[in-house]
Amino acid sequence: MSREALVHVEHLTRYYSQTCAVDDVSFDLAKGEVLGFLGPNGAGKSSTMQMITGNLAPGAGAISIAGTDLLEQPKLAKREIGYLPEQPPVYRELTVDEYLRYCARLNRIPRSHVKGAVSSAKERTGLADVGRRLIGNLSKGYQQRVGIAQAIIHNPAVVILDEPTVGLDPLQIREIRALICELGKEHGIILSTHILPEVQATCTRVQIINRGKLVFSDTTAGLESRMNATALIAGFHATPDLATLQQLPGVERAEPLADNRFRIHYRDSNPTEALVEQSVAQRWRLYELTPERRTLEQIFIELTCSEEQHTHTADTSQ
Ligand code: ADP
Repeated sequence: MSREALVHVEHLTRYYSQTCAVDDVSFDLAKGEVLGFLGPNGAGKSSTMQMITGNLAPGAGAISIAGTDLLEQPKLAKREIGYLPEQPPVYRELTVDEYLRYCARLNRIPRSHVKGAVSSAKERTGLADVGRRLIGNLSKGYQQRVGIAQAIIHNPAVVILDEPTVGLDPLQIREIRALICELGKEHGIILSTHILPEVQATCTRVQIINRGKLVFSDTTAGLESRMNATALIAGFHATPDLATLQQLPGVERAEPLADNRFRIHYRDSNPTEALVEQSVAQRWRLYELTPERRTLEQIFIELTCSEEQHTHTADTSQ
C-alpha cells in the first residue's frame, strides 16, 4: 500500500446468496484524486461504495481508510469518510444552519467547534448566504450543495458521492462539478456516475466495473488516449477501387458506407497522405476526409458488453 493512499481496497468480494455482486476488487485512492466509478446497472457500484462507507459487511477482503482498517476500527475509520448517498439525507423543514449543526453533532464534532465547522462547510460549498433559508425552499442545485456540505462537515479525508448530479439542470450540473473539482484538491473523492461526460469533466481517474469485476482502471488522460482516431471517413465523387484502398500503407480495412463513402481503419501509420496521392492519381475525386474518434460511450460498451472479460489496468497509483 502506498503511504499516501486515503482508501486502500484489497481483494474485496461480496456475495448475496449465489450472486457474486463484487468479485475480487482492489484499488487505491490518493489525496487530490477524483475517481470516477462507472458501470452498468447491477455491476456492483453501490455494493462497493456501501462496503467502503462501512454500511455493508464485505464477504472477503480488506479496506483501510487513511491508514485505519475499516473492519478492525470502524468508528475511527468512518471519521475520515463523508458520504452523499443518491437520495441526500436532507430535512426539508430545517434551515441550512439547523441541519448542518445537527449533522455536526451526529459526526461527534465537539460543541465548541460546531459553529466553525458549519461556517467552513457552508463557505466551501457556496452556501454562506443561505444559512437561514429552509432547505425545502432551496433549488435542487442548492439542496445538493447542502448534501455535499453535510458530507464534508467533519473534514473527512475521503468524500464519496453517489450520482451527485442526477436531476439537476445544466447550469446546476456545471456548478456542482466545479465544486467537486475544488473539493478534490483537499480530499480524495470517489464519485459514482452513469453520465460519461461527467467523468471527463471532473475525474482524474476512471474505474469501470462490470459484473462485479474491475474491467478498466486508468487516468482520465489514458482513457482519452484510447479515444484517439484509428479510422478515417473518406468520401469520393467517383467510385474508388476497394482493393487499391485496402492496399494503401497502414490501412487495415476499408469499410464501404453509403454514397461512395468509406470508413478506413488503420494501424500504426496514418494513411492520409497516401490516400490523397492515390485519389489524385486515380481521379477518385476525394471531397471529404475526417478522422473518426471513438466516443467514451463506445469504449464503455466495448468493455462492458464483451463476453470475455479482459482486465485493462494501466493504473499508475498502485
Ligand atoms: P450497481 O450499484 O452497479 O447497480 P449493485 O451493487 O446494486 O450494482 O448490485 C450488484 C448485484 O448485486 C446485482 O446483481 C444486484 O441485483 C445484486 N444485489 C444488490 N443488492 C442486493 C441485495 N440486497 N440482495 C440480493 N442481491 C443484491
